[in-house]
Amino acid sequence: MDFRFTQEQEALRKQFETFFEEVMKEAPADWGIGLESMVGSDEGWAFHCHVGRKLAERGWLTLPWPKEYGGQALSHIEQLIFNEVRGYHRAPGIDIWGLEMLAPTLMIYGTEEQKKEHLPPMARAESHWSQAWSEPNAGSDLASLTMRAVEEGDDFVLNGQKIWATGAHRADWTFTLARTDPEQPRHRGLSYFLVDLKTPGVSQRTIPDMAGHETFTEIFFDDVRIPRRNLVGEKNQGWYLTLVTMNLERSGIGGIAESRRTIEELIQFAKETKRDGETLWENPFVRHRIAQLAIEAEVGRAMAYRVAWVQSKGGIPAREASAAKVYSSELGQRIAYTGCQIMGLYGQVKSSKWAPLRGRFERAYQACVGMNIAAGTSEIQRNIIATRGLELPREPR
Ligand SMILES: Cc1cc2nc3c(=O)[nH]c(=O)nc-3n(C[C@H](O)[C@H](O)[C@H](O)COP(=O)(O)OP(=O)(O)OC[C@H]3O[C@@H](n4cnc5c(N)ncnc54)[C@H](O)[C@@H]3O)c2cc1C
Repeated sequence: MDFRFTQEQEALRKQFETFFEEVMKEAPADWGIGLESMVGSDEGWAFHCHVGRKLAERGWLTLPWPKEYGGQALSHIEQLIFNEVRGYHRAPGIDIWGLEMLAPTLMIYGTEEQKKEHLPPMARAESHWSQAWSEPNAGSDLASLTMRAVEEGDDFVLNGQKIWATGAHRADWTFTLARTDPEQPRHRGLSYFLVDLKTPGVSQRTIPDMAGHETFTEIFFDDVRIPRRNLVGEKNQGWYLTLVTMNLERSGIGGIAESRRTIEELIQFAKETKRDGETLWENPFVRHRIAQLAIEAEVGRAMAYRVAWVQSKGGIPAREASAAKVYSSELGQRIAYTGCQIMGLYGQVKSSKWAPLRGRFERAYQACVGMNIAAGTSEIQRNIIATRGLELPREPR
């Protein structure tokens, strides 16, 4: 693996740096960590949309998209650099569900009509998507989902409930999976649909996360009639569409870059804060804990680079991506816990002049819990590493 970037890539990195440094000066005062900043308040959402439009003007929402769809056809490495810089600056502006999940699926399986209707608004940051897959009794075992879609003439009628749809209360559209043939074995009877969230019969209820931010929603479908043209791919083939390996970068470098930034802030805090007559930085215990985190962040960065490198060589980094995901989400937790311990009781304070770093660690402490559940839990990722990566048996012998 070659760790060097080309001169063109370094130049691109500088352009991204300059842009994000500038645009983040406009961020709301309490801009924090994670999705809750983006979808949890009107002000945060407005800022996300503003940054998205600016990125769209530069063509940076669609760096890896093929030219025929208005993209720049750049490689996974350029996308990695973009994600790394954006993560470091904690910048919003990317509709991860539309741009990173749905768009590649539509490019492969969508009809011309679907591509024309949905790709250009995504590229212009004019449409916002959410992902409605999980159900109250179907998360890790998604294929057990029970939402039904029944064909009636030229329409499908959807009935059921989804849960944990991040930011769906802000979105215009959602993509979802429903059972179209209950007689088929579980994976074979599912279909993939696009639903305009304003369709009659769709209702939502927000679920606050444990820090009180309205981040997720439950979506209820009561006799929701959608046209056949909103079916993606073949009927009953939805499961296979969800498994599509997307062309976009999947290294999780954004999370690692954000972790590096958080460690830098912790270092600054330790240098500036005195306890019992000396700075925290003079305490060897504090220094060692932070040094350990800094080493781990470099390891995470190397793991993320490896994922993008495997992809750039045409490989499918299943175990590498799972390993990077487990590592970066668990590292985020170690950083949050260590930071709160170093800050002592002040680390638990928020919305107060006494909250160190404007309560960033208090928020991170609560937000990081969900990170090794979202997009496949750590246990599921470890199963993937074990079975697909190390070829260990699925069942104990
Ligand atoms: C921050 C966040 C954002 C999310 N955003 C979305 C979203 O936008 N759209 C959406 O559809 N969903 C979303 N989800 C839901 C997420 O996909 C599910 O929570 C996740 O897949 C786990 O499913 P579950 O909650 O039903 O837990 P379960 O699947 O019931 O798991 C419970 C526990 O059992 C373990 N477990 C389950 N199966 C196995 C196994 N085979 N081997 C070993 N251990 C196992 C799990 O690891 C977990 O610890 C989000 C979740 C979070 C936390």
